[in-house]
Amino acid sequence: MTVFLSIASFAFGAVVGSFLNVCIHRIPRGESIVRPRSRCPSCGTAISGYDNIPLVSYLVLRARCRSCGAPISAIYPAVELLTAVLSLVLFRKFGLSLPFLASFAFCCALVAVSFIDLEHRIIPDVISLPGIPLFALCGVGIMGLTLLDSLIGIVLGGGVLYLVATGYELLKKQEGMGGGDIKLLAMIGGFLGWKSLLFVLLVSSLLGAFVGIAAMVYRKGNLQDAVPFGPFLSVAAVLHIFYGEAFVRFFIVR
Ligand SMILES: [Zn+2]
Repeated sequence: MTVFLSIASFAFGAVVGSFLNVCIHRIPRGESIVRPRSRCPSCGTAISGYDNIPLVSYLVLRARCRSCGAPISAIYPAVELLTAVLSLVLFRKFGLSLPFLASFAFCCALVAVSFIDLEHRIIPDVISLPGIPLFALCGVGIMGLTLLDSLIGIVLGGGVLYLVATGYELLKKQEGMGGGDIKLLAMIGGFLGWKSLLFVLLVSSLLGAFVGIAAMVYRKGNLQDAVPFGPFLSVAAVLHIFYGEAFVRFFIVR
């Protein structure tokens, strides 16, 4: 039974990932995420149901559009696979339960935000702003946070990055961190609680510095235009779901 449910949770994640691809593609362009049905970006042919099976179609079509043969971006199956794996590991952690659904929804928002940020360097308000109250409610009602934990998480999460951004602007006279990151960390703080913020900021900064320096060496650019910060905040928030408690036990409660 557990094996069956694990496979089902993976398949469920892949299907949701397919929908996230639509969101990632359309939200930054201001298009509806409900209709029309997906089309090939090259030739405009509507993609039929049997060519729209998550992960499978990409392999069957060997990464090419059936009608025009244009290559299909590997981002699509990557998002589907990532979402499928997230669904599977969250199911393994929480079982078939409300915390599974709430944390999966939270991770889906982070996946969409990350890929949009990577491509367009923006974090759309349509995701982060409703996400703040919505995931705060999930945090309190489902994940067992106290209301105070969640509210302080929102204020502190947004506040810390607001101060960093303002300080940076004052020092360098240019915008370093977008307002999108501020709202994203407020959303994360509301769902995970204020105690998660140390972990999230530490891990995301370390990841960001590591990747930023690597990109700088590789591309010889400067650190600024190298990488957006949203994906690192997102990765750190997901890691906190799995390792946050262990982190607190190891470093703080000794
Ligand atoms: Zn085509």
